[in-house]
Amino acid sequence: MTPLHPATALARNGAVAGDPYGATSPPLYQTSTFAQDRCDAFGEFDYTRTDNPTRRAVESLLAELEGAHGALCYASGMAAIAGALRLAKPGDRILCGRDLYGGTQRFLHEHLDGVGVEHVDFDTDGNGRCLALELALRSAPVKLVFVETPSNPRLSVSDLRAISRAAHAHGALVVVDATAMTPWLMRPLDLGADIVLHSATKGLSGHGDVTAGVVLSRDEGLLGTLAKKRNAEGAALAPFESWLLARGLRTLGVRVDAAQRSALAIARALASEGLAERVIYPGLPSHPQAELHANQARGPGVLIALELATPEAAAQLVERTRLFSTAVSFGGVSSSISVPHFMSHASVPDGAAPRPSDRLVRLSVGLEDPDDLIDDLRQAASSHEPAKPPLGAIRRAKKPFPLRLT
Ligand SMILES: *Cc1c(COP(=O)(O)O)cnc(C)c1O
Repeated sequence: MTPLHPATALARNGAVAGDPYGATSPPLYQTSTFAQDRCDAFGEFDYTRTDNPTRRAVESLLAELEGAHGALCYASGMAAIAGALRLAKPGDRILCGRDLYGGTQRFLHEHLDGVGVEHVDFDTDGNGRCLALELALRSAPVKLVFVETPSNPRLSVSDLRAISRAAHAHGALVVVDATAMTPWLMRPLDLGADIVLHSATKGLSGHGDVTAGVVLSRDEGLLGTLAKKRNAEGAALAPFESWLLARGLRTLGVRVDAAQRSALAIARALASEGLAERVIYPGLPSHPQAELHANQARGPGVLIALELATPEAAAQLVERTRLFSTAVSFGGVSSSISVPHFMSHASVPDGAAPRPSDRLVRLSVGLEDPDDLIDDLRQAASSHEPAKPPLGAIRRAKKPFPLRLT
């Protein structure tokens, strides 16, 4: 049979191997332990830290979507990143793109440094060239190269084919954090990466109700090594969280397609109305790597970065929007807005790559009507409206929004 289209795999996602009742939604095996027939032989499952039918079902689906041999789900995106980077041993050297999620930078600087793994930042200059990477690869042996594309929050694009070629020529593994894309929009393993990972807290689960992470690969040996470490360290995703992730995933395609359509409309409107100094979105021809991105992904995604004229203008935009929650995280059904400098990237330690500017605003577009979102951004950018009411008052403030019924 020809492989299924991802939309079909997602819609049919229901089966847990061996389920005797034919449940059409993945059953939740909320159990820590599985009884054995004999004391000297384990059954298919014995202990949830090692393996669990609900987690295994969501891992199979993620592997299918990503074109991977297997997937390992972790308790969070950071647990997945820490798990993948456990492939580097003391004395190894790893190369990291300069533009990474704040928590990843904190992990590299405050943890890996302490266990004797050296990491070196490099500029992923994109558009088929990776000179900085080539230089770094030539200067000393490298265990692995870690990149994020499009990066959060600057949305700079790394050329995954060129990076994989260069890294492989020097015997290094390529690890890609593809959280901003999800496998619905990009499949780094097809482009040459050895490992792809995601914070499933974001678009994969999509409802803002679970923290989760996943590591995927086509290399059975690598997966086996990582599975052993995950079991030894107890970092696996719990059954209920696995079930929530499976539930969120069922609508991945329609959610991402709809939110991405709105994101494109919003990016175009903001650019044409001059609401920001610069609108950074890989779906606009003004993005310096729009073509590169289009060559390695199926769409520009749901994140938009805006450069405002001043930090005050950035704060005003964030604080005066009423439909966007001021919140870290992204990729959910509800839109959010943030100044990453103070929020998701506040954890970037001194000595790491510079934090994003305090004039940079990140929008995550959800499933609200795009016209409502554009109106909200317009009113927030004009200086006359009152600021967003304090949190306790928001629920009351939301009542007066009239619903448009047509
Ligand atoms: C959020 C995020 C992470 C960390 O994931 P958690 O689930 O919050 O631990 C890693 N990488 C990227 C790109 C992220 O956006």
